[in-house]
Amino acid sequence: MPEGPEVHDLADRLTRLLQDEMLDDVWFRDPALQRRRRLLTGQRVAGIVARGKALLIAVENGWTLYTHGHLFGFWRIVDDRDGLTSDTPPRVRLGCARGVAALYAAPSVALWRTDELDRQPYLAKLGPDVLDPAVDAAVFEAALVDPVIARRGLAVLLLEQSFAAGMGNYLRSEVLFEARLSPYRTPGDLDAPQRTRLAHALIDVPRRAYRAKQRGALPPGKEYLARIPGGFRFAVFEREGTACPRCGAVIVNVRIASRRLYWCRGCQH
Ligand SMILES: [Zn+2]
Repeated sequence: MPEGPEVHDLADRLTRLLQDEMLDDVWFRDPALQRRRRLLTGQRVAGIVARGKALLIAVENGWTLYTHGHLFGFWRIVDDRDGLTSDTPPRVRLGCARGVAALYAAPSVALWRTDELDRQPYLAKLGPDVLDPAVDAAVFEAALVDPVIARRGLAVLLLEQSFAAGMGNYLRSEVLFEARLSPYRTPGDLDAPQRTRLAHALIDVPRRAYRAKQRGALPPGKEYLARIPGGFRFAVFEREGTACPRCGAVIVNVRIASRRLYWCRGCQH
């Protein structure tokens, strides 16, 4: 499943295709959406953003296409419709003079008025986004002392979009490793330096993963990434049985909250 860095990178790629372009080809597989395609057809694209793992494409008449890829959704970007060679038709196809973007297999596609997006059920529940430049470590340091959050296990909490939007399974393992914390801890039993480490890891790790996807000039509005060092590789995720890069102990794989979690018992306490 794509996590925040992947969805933000996708938003950047769709921005390069669609931003300020007029949509001259709009098609939905869902008949009810297809009947409303004129809300987008002929409209100029005003902006494309990722929020958590949702992708929003706004057009200038005040409507927004909401999509969430969930486990299997993916976009393809091609020069023209003939390039869409998949056996199954896409859920959504958006074309402009520069090319075509098509969304496949995504369970959530909807049209919303842009000024009513805060009522969209997924977006309404989102907490601070780890890739929002306006969000910093202090936001998460404050959240970690909230009495309700303080009781949650870290391994579960770090997947909850209401706590930290854009987090996901590989980021969970890597954030806990960076913060040198056991997945079995709770915020309530961390001391202040540990909370600070976790809050900074929640900001730093996703941004390094996102930064590593940038090639060439940074996208408009993403200049904050220039301060973030390049390069990102998994320290523990999918490295079961190998030596921890920090302490040399063997990395283990456990299942917590039905998802794989990789960690080092040698240096995460
Ligand atoms: Zn270690």
